[in-house]
Amino acid sequence: MTDSLANTSTVRSTHVEAFVFKKSEWEYSQDADGHRTVKGYAGTWTTPYDGAPPWLLALISCPSCGANLLLHDRVHQIDRLGKIHPDIRCNKCAFSRACYLDKWNDKDLYACAIEVDGRPEIHYMHASNQAEARLHMGPIAHKKSFRIVALGRAIGFVANDDHGEDLSADVMTKKESQQS
Ligand SMILES: [Zn+2]
Repeated sequence: MTDSLANTSTVRSTHVEAFVFKKSEWEYSQDADGHRTVKGYAGTWTTPYDGAPPWLLALISCPSCGANLLLHDRVHQIDRLGKIHPDIRCNKCAFSRACYLDKWNDKDLYACAIEVDGRPEIHYMHASNQAEARLHMGPIAHKKSFRIVALGRAIGFVANDDHGEDLSADVMTKKESQQS
């Protein structure tokens, strides 16, 4: 008899997860003095507004506390996968995590849970569909020990493989379910 609960908890502690921000339209407004205010939606990102300073790469809203964070090009870089470098640290709460922007470069972000040499990993890629996402796996897919556990849209991505592993790209959801 295997104790499946004990099994999952060992695996969970061995891999690092990223948070994926969903793209959304935020509501900008301007007061009489010309000051702009914006209403962000927790866990989403939006493109800079018209007339935004050139250093503004994107705006994100902390998935944990909802604070709006501005991504400044002297502090952050966003690579072609929509990954934000360095990791995001919220200045209002304890949220600190590797983060991706979905639909950066206008394509959907996919997450692929794989196993290489028995170790679970999650890879991210932009693609128009699953077949294209699979093509973007790159050289790692030629390793003998390589196995795809699950492939899907990165938003809310949860995969369970046959060892009872729980791989997820949606870290906030998982945190809550682990605590309960
Ligand atoms: Zn926060």
